[in-house]
Amino acid sequence: MVDLKGQYAGIKERVDASIQEVIDSAAFVNGPEVHAFQKELEDYLGIKHVIPCANGTDALQIALMGLGLKPGDEVITADFTFAATVEVIDLLQLTSVLVDVDPVNFNIDTEAIKKAITPKTKAIIPIHLYGMAANMNAIMDIANEHNLFVIEDNAQGIGATYTGRDGSKLKTGTMGHVGTTSFFPSKNLGCYGDGGAIFTNDDELAHTIRGIVNHGMYKRYHHDVVGVNSRLDSIQAAVLRAKLPKLDSYNDTRRNAARKYSEAFASIEKIITPFVCDSCDCHVFHQYTLRLKGTDRDALAAHLVEKGIPHGIYYPIPLHKQKAYQDTRYKEEDFPITNTLVKEVLSLPMHTELDDEQIDYITKTIIDFVN
Ligand SMILES: *Cc1c(COP(=O)(O)O)cnc(C)c1O
Repeated sequence: MVDLKGQYAGIKERVDASIQEVIDSAAFVNGPEVHAFQKELEDYLGIKHVIPCANGTDALQIALMGLGLKPGDEVITADFTFAATVEVIDLLQLTSVLVDVDPVNFNIDTEAIKKAITPKTKAIIPIHLYGMAANMNAIMDIANEHNLFVIEDNAQGIGATYTGRDGSKLKTGTMGHVGTTSFFPSKNLGCYGDGGAIFTNDDELAHTIRGIVNHGMYKRYHHDVVGVNSRLDSIQAAVLRAKLPKLDSYNDTRRNAARKYSEAFASIEKIITPFVCDSCDCHVFHQYTLRLKGTDRDALAAHLVEKGIPHGIYYPIPLHKQKAYQDTRYKEEDFPITNTLVKEVLSLPMHTELDDEQIDYITKTIIDFVN
């Protein structure tokens, strides 16, 4: 699904040298590399504060802790996402409220958000799923009207640009009150282990969060709030510093591969290709995900395995049907899109090293099968 070895070949010298520097300096945690990376990511995203942390799941948890939500507060998020998004809500004893998604962009359905709002609702977590920006204009309108926090789960969308109503271009993760991301190796900006970050323009929230990631300490050995230990290590920051200047070109490469896939499938009725935008960079194709109509998705998946083609099914089970998150509040008729998508979606190899020959082989194999 991803080719990290091929990508490494292109940045080996820089990465090896910076890792060696960290080892020589012995500043393994929160060293100068981490601070430099933080600053560079702030500049890239156009945001005042980046707070690095240990992974993307921690980033979400810490964002919720920083906002001071209390047990029983309701947090609305999508039924169709990676479990980390909902996991942290329940872990903090907040009440997760799962809602359906939009069939075109796979992101949280704004009408469903409106229907789910109650007097206890305190926050919305949209996910920029597969790398496609969620409908932030509408989401921010709803949040402003109901006085809710917005936490953008940008683990899959780093580098995507969203066009605001006034035509302004903003990076995903920087429009809500707080944004989070993951630097897991396979993400669009991945390190060589675990890593994550939290973004905000709010000075006070940034200060609170900087304490939370470090045991609730604002002054050494003075613990003002209950915190966690969630840090980015310097070796990971060194890798990320080598990759950040290439993120836009990496994302362009992904978009080009997506365009080629979609062109090949254009006349195939049984395949619905993902939305590809020609006028902006609102999609960074963390995943290239098809919907299959009138074809047995699982039989195709098995056929791909036989043909040596990796694939992924993100995600096979709606969160509201997972044992950990089932709840009598949920009614099947409230999730028609998620319930359909879990049976239809299929993600194809997507990374920075895909070549035309591979795309050709993959698309021909799929077309032969569905026809
Ligand atoms: C990967 C991912 C996360 C979690 O990131 P980790 O670094 O693996 O903890 C959270 N949300 C979404 C949507 C993700 O894809």
